[in-house]
Amino acid sequence: MNAATRPHVLVAEDHTPLRAQIVGLLERAGLQVDEAADGRLALHSVLTQPPDLLVLDLGLPGLDGLQLCQQLRLRAPRHVPVLMLTARDTLADKLGGFEAGADDYLVKPFASEELLVRVQALLRRRTLGQDYLLRVGELEIDRRAQQARRAGQLLALPPKAFAILLLLAEAWPRALTRSEIIHRLWDDEPPESDPLRSHLYLLRQHLDRPFVSPMLHTVHGVGFRLRVDDAEGPVS
Ligand code: CA
Repeated sequence: MNAATRPHVLVAEDHTPLRAQIVGLLERAGLQVDEAADGRLALHSVLTQPPDLLVLDLGLPGLDGLQLCQQLRLRAPRHVPVLMLTARDTLADKLGGFEAGADDYLVKPFASEELLVRVQALLRRRTLGQDYLLRVGELEIDRRAQQARRAGQLLALPPKAFAILLLLAEAWPRALTRSEIIHRLWDDEPPESDPLRSHLYLLRQHLDRPFVSPMLHTVHGVGFRLRVDDAEGPVS
């Protein structure tokens, strides 16, 4: 692999020996790696030169991992997968990480092999994402034709409903917050006070109404996500 095709990973970790260890591990795996020891610098780097993956420590000086992740989700031009590292292993912390927009989670101390496997799984999803066909369960989205099919059946989605479905499919299995979707669809100028309402209604009519199990789920207090009956959890 040459430098242009090697996946680019940013490692944001303030603990110098651990950062050096992670950087060495990823470089030996053939990845192109940049590093940051401070949250603000890491955010700047991610926004100006989005990597293919961000390995993000939760406890960072400047801007902590959760804040960085939230800012990233609001401001990045495209989805940058985030693997969150933390010493805290309580369920509440994990859920906090996913709500802020982490794609995966690893509790310290971790085995090098596990970090590498998770990094590779997230990068593989990115490669799949570059394909114009995106599949989530029985849903298939053709980005080029701007068409979605569920169980082979073409969904006659209006453009905004299609755009929401595409965002949710790209984010799957994590949830997107209401404000994240609004920001991605209208930047900072939504046309009305509750702009998602009618579009989500139309999306449900086409995506879920003709089928037995609904795919579009409201995650209470978080936002929306797609649910796939037989394949919950990240693609590996
Ligand atoms: Ca730290």
